[in-house]
Amino acid sequence: LMTLTKRLIEIRSLLLSIDQSDTLKLPSIVVIGSQSSGKSSVLEAVVGHEFLPKGNNMVTRRPIELTLVNTPGEASEYGVFPALGTGKITDFSAIQKTLTDMNLAVPAEEAVSDKPIDLRIYSPNVPDLTLIDLPGYIELSSLDQPETLKEKIFSLCDKYIREPNILLAVCAADVDLANSPALRASRKVDPLGLRTIGVVTKMDLVDAKQGSMILAGNRYPLHLGYVGVVCKPSGKDSRHESAGAIARRGNEYFREHRDYFSSKAIMVGTDTLRRRLMEVLESSMASSLHSITNAVQLELEEAQYQFKVQYNDRRTSPESYVAETIDTLKARFRDFTMQFRKPAVRAKLKGMLDERVMDVLEQLYWSDKRITEFASLSEDRRVKPEDVQAYWRYKLEAASSLLTKSGVGRDATLLVADGLRALIDGIASGSPFTHHPQAAERLVEFAHMILRDRIPTTSDQVENCIKPYKYEVEVDTREWEIGRQEAVELFEREVGMCESKLVEIRKKVGGSRRLKNLMGYVRELDEKERERKKRVISAVASGKEVDEVSFDERSYRYPPAQIVDGRHAALYTDRLTILRQRLTALKGKRCKSGPESDLLCPEAFLEVVADKLAHTSTMFINIELLEHFFYQFPREIDSRLLYDLDRSEIVRFARENPQIRAHLDLQERKDKLEEVMKRLNSLSTLRPDVQPAPRRP
Ligand code: GDP
Repeated sequence: LMTLTKRLIEIRSLLLSIDQSDTLKLPSIVVIGSQSSGKSSVLEAVVGHEFLPKGNNMVTRRPIELTLVNTPGEASEYGVFPALGTGKITDFSAIQKTLTDMNLAVPAEEAVSDKPIDLRIYSPNVPDLTLIDLPGYIELSSLDQPETLKEKIFSLCDKYIREPNILLAVCAADVDLANSPALRASRKVDPLGLRTIGVVTKMDLVDAKQGSMILAGNRYPLHLGYVGVVCKPSGKDSRHESAGAIARRGNEYFREHRDYFSSKAIMVGTDTLRRRLMEVLESSMASSLHSITNAVQLELEEAQYQFKVQYNDRRTSPESYVAETIDTLKARFRDFTMQFRKPAVRAKLKGMLDERVMDVLEQLYWSDKRITEFASLSEDRRVKPEDVQAYWRYKLEAASSLLTKSGVGRDATLLVADGLRALIDGIASGSPFTHHPQAAERLVEFAHMILRDRIPTTSDQVENCIKPYKYEVEVDTREWEIGRQEAVELFEREVGMCESKLVEIRKKVGGSRRLKNLMGYVRELDEKERERKKRVISAVASGKEVDEVSFDERSYRYPPAQIVDGRHAALYTDRLTILRQRLTALKGKRCKSGPESDLLCPEAFLEVVADKLAHTSTMFINIELLEHFFYQFPREIDSRLLYDLDRSEIVRFARENPQIRAHLDLQERKDKLEEVMKRLNSLSTLRPDVQPAPRRP
């Protein structure tokens, strides 16, 4: 018979781990009793050890779900807190300490928490039982606490004292049963006393005759009867006695007064109490068996149906999810690396250098007043390169060196590294990493680490390799022609850009005539400003007092924003004039003739230099940065995202994704219900036709 309870208790724990719904509940015994009624002493007598928290400041703040597991033939006795993963605790004072700590961890102002503490005790000396110790349910009425708090405690206890649970009402013999808080509480939820068992403690404090009358239970009949116990011998300091010794002493008491307690109708002693609790739980569980089997069957069918409909019976696991995630991550990374093939990198670097070429041209040529002379030189076919003045030779060398010494190594490396960084950031902020912020952070972190590690060497390498160009750039005809064409394209792009900007401004200002007027006005304004400056300077020089004539913004004919537009338009127009002039030259015979015309076609020459710089930089960035990164990154993914994880971290990672969490939850629920169902079915073979325990005559 006992194996039935044992198995049902196992099933009960399984059911508890599925959910807390009422339909899936096997009965347990809920212990209620006011403070100092001897509640702890009774529980400890049942377990045979002192292990409950002591103290009078509401030490029980969380329900304790106490599962006793009988382990016949085993020598050791120990407790386990499954939720804490502490393993076997053989020292019961350590269990007591843990329970105290867990209770005290609930803040005093919250008073109670409805998260039960799961404690299992394994011993050859305990019966198979489940007992629940509730926080201050009874003290409630007497406590001077705010209503909301009381309600909180009530609703917490309410969950436990409901059917099918059995109530163990602990009352002290020296308190009139009519005043027993435990019995009063039990009567509220079980008025007929059908599922309440009374325990009368401190039997030694009343005379034996009176005690036996209480136990007969005639005044307040309970269907499951009363059991009298003595857990603490009076008059002696028993603090250092073991619970077992105390229990023996308790039994001694009843032996001494056997005249009063030998009647079969009267139950006394902790051994009897244990047996009685087992009988009651057993029969109560047995009678719940049918309804619980039905309920589990229904839940199981629903879970199976949902699993089929939602996931087509496809199973998942945290491990497979992690593996898939890593695979997609690597695949996506591989796809992205295509953008970093050599031609792409070269084009990117060339783009950066093109901008520099433009800057250099602007700085050295376009602002040069002798540019007109330069233009006429380049148009004059009779001019031979060797006739060109040293001035332009010097200009070209300066321009070339401005370009080669502009920190290309560092900037090119940073440009590519920045591209890589953006790529990783993109991967890390995309699905499925939106669900895994920590993993995303780590991803970004180690990508940055690799980059930080490679950037200095790479930029030094690149800088070193372009060094020769700082001194001399040799250009052959083929290179020249490519450079010239690129310069043409670059200028045409620039022309297009300037034109579209002008169109934009024209639209904003309101037509070409208005823009023309505006630009005229702006030029006039600038001219005046120049003159004013000249006057101020000469005034200062001749020691005269400065006559501060500056333009009052309000006297402008146009609003300031339009003045700015006008200035921009003037700039673009000037630039266009030069660009068009130079385009004509670049497309002209002189420039086409070859590298000998470098002095007159500096644009083509600089483009050749830019090409060479881009080419060399790409080569070394590819070796020093990209190849390292593409090799290292997938390996870091493995070692830092994957191999680092233990089982619980894998589960946590997978459950961060809500879809996977839902999938896992349903799958787990289905599995557990199947397991419960299997166990319930196997019970039917050994299940005797148990009736609820009859009331003792
Ligand atoms: P709880 O507050 O309800 O958990 O009660 P305890 O188990 O802590 O007991 C309260 C007090 O009653 C303690 O001082 C115990 O020593 C004492 N006590 C418990 N059981 C007995 C008993 O059977 N006889 C006597 N005389 N005292 C007991």
